[in-house]
Amino acid sequence: MKIDILTLFPEMCEAVLSESIIGRARSAGHVEINCHNIRDYSTDKHNHVDDMPYGGGTGMIMQAQPIYDAFMDLTKNGEEPYHLIYMTPQGKTLTQERVKELAKLDKIAILCGHYEGVDERVIDELEPEEISIGDYVLTGGELPALALTDSICRMLPGVLRNDEAFSKESHFDGLLEYPQYTRPPVWKGREVPEVLLSGHHENISKWQYEQSLERTKNKRQDMYDKFVQN
Ligand code: SAM
Repeated sequence: MKIDILTLFPEMCEAVLSESIIGRARSAGHVEINCHNIRDYSTDKHNHVDDMPYGGGTGMIMQAQPIYDAFMDLTKNGEEPYHLIYMTPQGKTLTQERVKELAKLDKIAILCGHYEGVDERVIDELEPEEISIGDYVLTGGELPALALTDSICRMLPGVLRNDEAFSKESHFDGLLEYPQYTRPPVWKGREVPEVLLSGHHENISKWQYEQSLERTKNKRQDMYDKFVQN
């Protein structure tokens, strides 16, 4: 898979995407990620990429032209089209279900807004999928784009040690994950549940499933109701 991030702050994205699991996945060739600076596409003699909003108001608006040209440059050699996503608090809230679907695509481009957002005309022209990471507002789309990229990359073949690593996790099948423990077996007088030390795989799986159900019911009644209805 190829992911191209269009941003005014490529170094911010690179810094995160070069580390840990995603950094290793890139080095191993499981995913290609490129961060492009929208400012490189400014045609303004001072390299401006934003201007004041028509109609007044505070803050600056990212101009349509550099964003449009940056996206068009991705396919300039007649390459396959990208699925374009605009990170915006006005979009559909990201879910694990959508992440699963996006992880099946070959090419994704992610547009990060900044300041007060982007000129609406470039959204009308490019018609991106609009995705939000939650009902709150951040200063820019970089953190949302990183969250999206990370969530997609960890589902790609070879990125995690095995598919079980994500298929048993919270949200994958509509439940929260069961509690997890590591050494030592007793810490501050708190013991690891006996069944996990038993080596009896069937009993362990049963316990984990029951715990998943119970914590989903306790922590996320909405998810639990949906799970039992299906
Ligand atoms: N004026 C916009 C509004 O009220 O809808 C908010 C602009 S926000 C300050 C600047 C940029 O941050 C947005 O263009 C978007 O790319 C990004 N952003 C902020 N919050 C976000 C969220 N919850 N999910 C996704 N992107 C977000």
